[in-house]
Amino acid sequence: MMKVYKISKDKLKAYLSYLLNKGYSIYGPVKTTSGDVIFSKIEDPEHFVDEKSTNGPKSVVFPEREIIFRYREGKIIEEKSDERRILFGTRTCEIEGFRMLDDVLLKGKYKDISYERKRSNSIIVNFACTKACKYGFCTTFQGPKLKNGFSLQFIDIGDDYLVEAMNEELIVPEYFTEASEEDIKKAEENINNVYKEMEQLPIKDIEKKIKFNDEIWNKLGNYCINCGACNYSCPTCFCFDVYDVKIGNEILRIREWDSCLLEGFSRLAGFNNPRKDNASRLIQRFYHKLVYHKLNYGYYLCTGCGRCIEQCPVNIDIRDVIKYFSGGEL
Ligand code: SF4
Ligand code: SF4
Repeated sequence: MMKVYKISKDKLKAYLSYLLNKGYSIYGPVKTTSGDVIFSKIEDPEHFVDEKSTNGPKSVVFPEREIIFRYREGKIIEEKSDERRILFGTRTCEIEGFRMLDDVLLKGKYKDISYERKRSNSIIVNFACTKACKYGFCTTFQGPKLKNGFSLQFIDIGDDYLVEAMNEELIVPEYFTEASEEDIKKAEENINNVYKEMEQLPIKDIEKKIKFNDEIWNKLGNYCINCGACNYSCPTCFCFDVYDVKIGNEILRIREWDSCLLEGFSRLAGFNNPRKDNASRLIQRFYHKLVYHKLNYGYYLCTGCGRCIEQCPVNIDIRDVIKYFSGGEL
């Protein structure tokens, strides 16, 4: 059963130091010298910031590029790590992405062992958002607060964080005290403010309204420069490529993220390509998010994180596509 605590913001860095001293590897949002916030390993608690990162935690459990195994002298050597990991300061849109990745990579006919190892080794300390972010539209989907799938969930209530604890694994009496009814009410108010601040999109039945043959795809296709940033920044995109490389006396099997917006994504043997132009690749991206995944899994493959909007250099915006097919204009 979930218990509710609180922790003073003044104690947060000391708590992080405590966890580091306990031998956990901690990953979370840190501010770089250029001012960007990126999700990476935290060596010094002072570097942690309670902000949504540009990249999110996906690459910790599903790296951009990883060696799956090495083949040397007739033997297959698997890449394994026994790192005890905490993902500290994740956002709800990112962990909802994990839930979607789990459905695809762990619950199908075949299990992705590499992903499973990293995922099961990762303890989630989520920070529910109490302010609407610039491009996000999470209230169209799951909202800013997780219902499950975390060990701890922090909610900003002013000088303190309210802390929802699914288990006691990371609860240390020195840092946490009991929360009052007033604290719980304040947290609810702060979460509700996000619903008030954020635009709700007309997502209902979008899979029945979206059209394959529509001028919008050519319009957007004229702008897309196939950089793949929308896919690479998305917490729910899971397409990858696998290839072998020979280095010295070893062969490495490597898995690397792929992107449906790249020209080579759908290229077949003999150089046939059913998705030669930008328009057809954009149709694939939006149909996967808004139609195919809904038909296969019962929900849209999007958590409303807004990263694809923020990252796209030519301002292609999934919110505009949803509104357009719901009767709006582009
Ligand atoms: S499609 Fe865009 S808004 Fe939706 S989860 Fe992916 S990056 Fe976020
Ligand atoms: S981020 Fe924008 S320009 Fe880049 S591939 Fe995606 S839609 Fe195209």
